[in-house]
Amino acid sequence: MKIHEYQGKEILRQAGVPVPRGYPAFSVQEALDAAQKLGGPVWVVKAQIHAGGRGKGGGVKLARSIEDVKKLSGEILGMQLITHQTSAEGQKVRRLLIEEGADIKKEYYVAAVTDRATQKVAIMASSEGGMDIEEVAHATPEKIIKVFVDPATGLTDAQGAELANGIGVPAASQAQAIDVFKKLYQVYMDTDSSLAEINPLILEGNGGIKALDAKFNFDSNALFRHPEIVAYRDLDEEDPAEIEASKFDLAYIQLDGNIGCLVNGAGLAMATMDTIKLFGGEPANFLDVGGGATAEKVTEAFKIMLGNPKVKAILVNIFGGIMRCDTIAEGVIAACKAVNLNVPLVVRMKGTNEDLGKKMLAESGLPIISADSMAEAAQKVMAALK
Ligand code: ADP
Ligand code: MG
Repeated sequence: MKIHEYQGKEILRQAGVPVPRGYPAFSVQEALDAAQKLGGPVWVVKAQIHAGGRGKGGGVKLARSIEDVKKLSGEILGMQLITHQTSAEGQKVRRLLIEEGADIKKEYYVAAVTDRATQKVAIMASSEGGMDIEEVAHATPEKIIKVFVDPATGLTDAQGAELANGIGVPAASQAQAIDVFKKLYQVYMDTDSSLAEINPLILEGNGGIKALDAKFNFDSNALFRHPEIVAYRDLDEEDPAEIEASKFDLAYIQLDGNIGCLVNGAGLAMATMDTIKLFGGEPANFLDVGGGATAEKVTEAFKIMLGNPKVKAILVNIFGGIMRCDTIAEGVIAACKAVNLNVPLVVRMKGTNEDLGKKMLAESGLPIISADSMAEAAQKVMAALK
């Protein structure tokens, strides 16, 4: 799950990381109120969307007067902001962050991520802040310093110093920088983040260290123990079909193709998509109905798939283990009737009670195409498309 910059800064602030003073705003009037409360002489008007690269895309602007704040807020609110992290159409701006302008002497980069190779949390830092870290990693990898944190000790002073030195923080500001690195690590652990990134972390004219941006990704599997983070969720930033799917505990990701896939088990879902591609097709979605799919859940899954206008055929691929094939057949039949299915449907099922399931489908009177192997199912769905 992702959150907005202003929410990320709230989390950092609570953890004791210095951030600029600022307020979120949902309208030009709120932006003006925020600017008044902050006082001048310089404000920054920042588009809040769940994507980075806003500065380059025109979503972060400096204002030198209240009139400027008004003008810029009016321009940015409601705009389709296109960045390298949004789709080609961009993302509509519905919220702003109005914050005090910072006196930037130098921009650094720092982030906490989980490193699979060492199975530890890595703290990465760079002297090249403010820009795309992927670009730095590609062109000048030596400019990224990494340390790996032992969970028993946390980030040590020595590691903090290694980072601060490595990115060139001046001696007088190192203690502050080390303190920020330690707090960033602690916040990452406490919130079950999968990414906590400050880009840029700045050195101010007076030697202070401050987080000017905040980006968090949270592990969705741990959200049950973080109601305060779930409260930050902004559904406007998420795909409506994926939101609907999550209500029914379905793992659904929309893709660009035209063959809807309904599968139980993530591994089988991936294999099904691969098989479709092998036979020249393009999956319209990834959809895992999980192990305990009921007829109701299967019906919802069909509705969500068919809500995508690109879907021209559907392939159901079920392995009946604990889940029996007759239960799935019942669900498929109920779903077909409930949604008035108007595209070809190929069903392949294997495992417990498969004969009974196939018999139910055959006797349902519905135009369901049955297949035995995955290859056959993919071939039949391709043929049905034509
Ligand atoms: P993004 O990463 O989406 O482009 P940032 O929040 O990092 O957005 O802002 C982009 C740039 O704008 C920063 O690198 C910084 O130079 C400048 N900036 C952001 N916030 C402020 C601020 N409060 N004061 C001064 N400059 C800022
Ligand atoms: Mg940034």
